[in-house]
Amino acid sequence: MSYTKDIAVQRINILFTLAERMFFSHPELAQRYVDLARRIGMRCKVRIPRKWRRRFCRKCGSFLWPGVNCRVRIRQNRFPHIVITCLKCGSQKRIPIK
Ligand SMILES: [Zn+2]
Repeated sequence: MSYTKDIAVQRINILFTLAERMFFSHPELAQRYVDLARRIGMRCKVRIPRKWRRRFCRKCGSFLWPGVNCRVRIRQNRFPHIVITCLKCGSQKRIPIK
């Protein structure tokens, strides 16, 4: 991994950590951090670390908090997977379980 990408990943991690910390006290600030982190990811062509990938909505970009603004369900049809529904825009994301 190149130096720039390494820095980008570090910054994404910091921004998501801050977003998580600010989610309840300053939701609009948390949202700004997520937007920023995603923009860094796009500009530097790095993927959002796996740890954070299921914590935001791909469609509207909201930071997701299970039980607050997203619904997490385990489904068994065809293959076992987790369905995360964003309660803001209604988009769903599926994560297969091995
Ligand atoms: Zn959404």
